[in-house]
Amino acid sequence: MKRSGICALALVTTVIAVPLAQKPAPLPAANPKLDALKQEAVAEVESRRAFSQQMVDQIFSYGELGFQEFETHRYLVDILKQNGFAVQEGIAGVPTAFMATWGSGKPVIALGSDIDGIPQASQKPGVAFHDPLIEGAPGHGEGHNSGQAVNITAAIAVKKIMEREKLPGTIRIWPGTAEELVGTKAYFIRAGLFKDVDVALFTHVGDSMSVTWGDRAGTGLVSVQYSFQGETAHAAGAPWRGRSALDAVQLMDIGWNFRREHLRLSQRSHSVVTDGGDQPNVVPRTASIWYYFRELDYPHIKEMWETGDTIAKAAAMMAGVELLPTKVLGTAWPQHFNKVVAETAHANIQKVGMPEWSDQDQQLAKALQKELKNARIEGLPLKISDTLAGPVQNNTGGGSDDIGDISWNVPTVTLRYPSNIPGLPGHNWSSAIAMATPIAHKGVTAGAKVQAMTILDLVMRPELVDQAWKYFRDMQTKDKKYEPLLRPQDQPAIWLNKGIMDKYRPEMKKYYYDPSRYKTYLDQLGIKYPTIKTPNAQRPTPN
Ligand SMILES: [Zn+2]
Repeated sequence: MKRSGICALALVTTVIAVPLAQKPAPLPAANPKLDALKQEAVAEVESRRAFSQQMVDQIFSYGELGFQEFETHRYLVDILKQNGFAVQEGIAGVPTAFMATWGSGKPVIALGSDIDGIPQASQKPGVAFHDPLIEGAPGHGEGHNSGQAVNITAAIAVKKIMEREKLPGTIRIWPGTAEELVGTKAYFIRAGLFKDVDVALFTHVGDSMSVTWGDRAGTGLVSVQYSFQGETAHAAGAPWRGRSALDAVQLMDIGWNFRREHLRLSQRSHSVVTDGGDQPNVVPRTASIWYYFRELDYPHIKEMWETGDTIAKAAAMMAGVELLPTKVLGTAWPQHFNKVVAETAHANIQKVGMPEWSDQDQQLAKALQKELKNARIEGLPLKISDTLAGPVQNNTGGGSDDIGDISWNVPTVTLRYPSNIPGLPGHNWSSAIAMATPIAHKGVTAGAKVQAMTILDLVMRPELVDQAWKYFRDMQTKDKKYEPLLRPQDQPAIWLNKGIMDKYRPEMKKYYYDPSRYKTYLDQLGIKYPTIKTPNAQRPTPN
């Protein structure tokens, strides 16, 4: 997802705004009580700015990669328990996933947001150039440190009102664990965790505030690791005795890259070699290559996957090695968002509007856009679009998000809130710069206000939930049904990233945020906000 930290956004995809309905929908009857409670929820969120900021900064400082979000998990579970939620930990076989529940009865509203970071994205916040806290370490180079603060702040604000007003309804809070690996949401569906959910309100960091409905830009994917096994031998003394698994990896890579010419334009595929042998004088007995195969829909994803399997088998034959059983490390369906829920959230977005950016916020944004040599030095946006974007036209592919799996099982919308800077490459240190600064904090508060208002809409206007399901049944899933990409034998890839976190965590711990001593993480790090290159510093040293 990414335009500035938007995992799934294809930069070149045209999103065409379509009319909300062929006939204008009748305006809901005036509901002064709902309006008053929404105003109260907004004030409750506003009064919790420090609470939200601490969550954003704390999770930023953990910088944990997918499936290894142990500090983040413990921290969030503690906050939720302190605030009256019952928490089931380790759901769907994922130790760093949980389902928190408060309330009773209908509607059941599930609030989700991702929590994992990006490899090699360590970065000092508020500094408008590459300046890692720890060279080589992971960090929040996507902005997934912020979404839980949106949801938890909103939930606590609404819970207070629901308790007093004795409003029926259940709020669930859950993490998008290992989203960068699209590693868990399909397992949550398989485990039945969304079976009784009425609406899923997802949040994701962005650089503006918006929701969409219909088929979204981007792709779904299957993430597959191919492992080969040969035999070692002395690579100089008796190479004819050996069979190189690495040869099969290289032949598969070559085979795939030739085949790429003949794939649809919308596909995206990329790989890393996760095992390339041990040392040159030992013929590699084992080797592995890991692919993401991305396409626009389920049948085309399956087709790419079959092509990958064929090339792997052929590569094994050429190298005279064995292809081991393949491992699915993640899957994601393409995303489709619910029209009724999107319209509801969109109306609330219009009421909340964009945060007020300070001169310092704008200075940081512009300095970073300049540092990245962007064509546009646009700073932070001041206005939100008043148009609700509908189904994507001419989808040319792009990123993926396993919220797609949820969206094909329950009416779902992703709220993008303005906590990052526009014009960034994504999955990069630059996307971490804003994520523990006032830009992120203000965006989270704005997002939490929208989220809180939308929850109240769904709780107090049950007809919205009925209409959302009508759209889901009669429009979205009329001709297209969810089929899992997961095979029955697949299990969550919870071992991923353990080695990287074992390597860096001891050093990263020294930088964990301590809110008992410092008001903000910037304060703790002693960073002047914003820190930008001075004209002098940019001048080359004379020699
Ligand atoms: Zn993301």
